[in-house]
Amino acid sequence: MHLYIHIPFCKQACHYCDFHFSTHTANKRAVVEAIAREIELRKAYLPDGDMETIYFGGGTPSMLDEAELHLLLGTIHKHFRVAPDAEISLEANPDDLDAASLQMFFKAGINRLSIGIQSFHEPHLRFMNRAHSALQAGQCVKLAQKAGIDNISIDLIYAIPSENHNVLLADLSQAFTLGVPHISAYCLTIEPQTAFGSWLKKKKIKPIEEEYAAQQFEILVKSLGDHGYEQYEISNFARDRRYSRHNSSYWKQHPYLGVGPSAHSYDGTSREYNVSNNAKYLEAIQQERIPATTEMLTSADQTNEYLLTGLRTIWGVEMQKLHVLSNGAFALEQQQELEKMTRKGWIREESGILLLTDAGKLFADRIASDLFID
Ligand code: SF4
Repeated sequence: MHLYIHIPFCKQACHYCDFHFSTHTANKRAVVEAIAREIELRKAYLPDGDMETIYFGGGTPSMLDEAELHLLLGTIHKHFRVAPDAEISLEANPDDLDAASLQMFFKAGINRLSIGIQSFHEPHLRFMNRAHSALQAGQCVKLAQKAGIDNISIDLIYAIPSENHNVLLADLSQAFTLGVPHISAYCLTIEPQTAFGSWLKKKKIKPIEEEYAAQQFEILVKSLGDHGYEQYEISNFARDRRYSRHNSSYWKQHPYLGVGPSAHSYDGTSREYNVSNNAKYLEAIQQERIPATTEMLTSADQTNEYLLTGLRTIWGVEMQKLHVLSNGAFALEQQQELEKMTRKGWIREESGILLLTDAGKLFADRIASDLFID
């Protein structure tokens, strides 16, 4: 069983971000209490079993104070059986991490940190409106390791406009010196409902060039590979198989419960989407209502989701599972498309499992969507 908790608050809005969060924190305690109540109200959503992973995402979960974190973890332990070796992750921003907060997270039971570093280069941090400095980015990882949390992932953003690839190389080099077991690297994308989206519309910034992004991706993959990081998902790299167990469960289509404003849940046949509005969420939970809409997944939805997430991973997608999910439609409709992609050298089949080649990884989402069924 897997649990996601969305903490919908941030200190400031990063210019690229289209996640749900608010910078108005006056009702933070009330929202956290509502999330704890939602956990109680929805405890029967998942089948019986041990909770294997718990993930505090956001927003900025490292803005939780000790009482708030204890309330949430206490509620989880009261209503679920948490496995002794459960992975309990918390997303954190460098500006929230000091010796005291790290001790607090460690003592509360957080055993994995996902730190939003994004870059070690001050001008890039300012360009993206990150709340932390380059100095804090480097220091916080060492502080976390000192506090006893060694299972650390750092997020990096690539394809930030730059004259050459030197900044990316310097970012990677600094990441390697920190010796973290996991790195997530995401391409800068410009979403319409963000500051960058509005600047692009007003022509204050240029779009990210596809060729530049592809070059940066290739540098990144090569460099991480040379330093012992396995690309187990297109954007995720781990040493010594220290994969994110929580995110891997999404990619393997395992059921999960998501609580908090904007969180999603999945039970194998349907998805539920919580309202992306803190005030509406609070009001509903205070009335003992779950503010979620439900979408029943058709056979085509389940097949296409499996393709979209599975093809991005080293586990690939099983032909037999595609056949079952699609009620036999996949093999009939897609055989020609598969043959075309195999000839292009983008995809290969090994013992009934479809896998992307290195060349195919550059077009992962396009390949998946070309294989979608109706
Ligand atoms: S801190 Fe994270 S969630 Fe908050 S605005 Fe920045 S990227 Fe988005």
